[in-house]
Amino acid sequence: MKLVLASSNPGKLEELRQLLGDTGIQLLAQSQFGVEDADETGPGFIENALLKARHAARATGLPALADDSGLCVDALAGAPGLYSARYAGRHGDHAANIDKLLHELREVADVNRTARFVAVLALVRHADDPQPLLAEGLWEGRILHARRGDGGFGYDPVFFSPAHGMSAAELPRDEKNRISHRGKALALLRGRIIGQGLFQ
Ligand code: IMP
Repeated sequence: MKLVLASSNPGKLEELRQLLGDTGIQLLAQSQFGVEDADETGPGFIENALLKARHAARATGLPALADDSGLCVDALAGAPGLYSARYAGRHGDHAANIDKLLHELREVADVNRTARFVAVLALVRHADDPQPLLAEGLWEGRILHARRGDGGFGYDPVFFSPAHGMSAAELPRDEKNRISHRGKALALLRGRIIGQGLFQ
């Protein structure tokens, strides 16, 4: 069964492919169909995930899955939040995004550096699907004072998981997938996919 991923982020594609590995679902990048990212104009993660999924389904004629995710830092009133991918200005410039985040938090003590990753997954069977499947996952942690580790993507080097005593970039990939916001959201979504007998 083919499912299009409404994202041009290779980090997300790789994580979601691994997470869907045993389902028989073949996750295809929308770029294979020449589809570009939809403008994320919604007021929240749910709206953006849905509009991205509908956009990819409309452009390809296939069922589509979208992930809208971000990092919400308490000391910054939830920023970068919806703007995580373009916090420093240029979409996907992860090095600059991290530099900006560390700068904004330079005077914030450890105890106040709490943050969480948020992921919303939306799956539509077709562009006008009136019953999209939605799932949300959260991952609680803290922002480090400097980068640690070289795995993962995005803000992983500065996101510290207290449960593991490591940054997200230091965690083995399987472990990140098991406990991350995206991993949790996908586990929920898988349950709904199976429960509704989709893709059989
Ligand atoms: P969007 O969902 O395409 O708007 O982008 C989400 C952005 O949030 C990414 O570009 C990253 O900056 C950040 N992000 C989301 N999930 C993760 C993660 O698992 N690790 C690190 N950064 C993430």
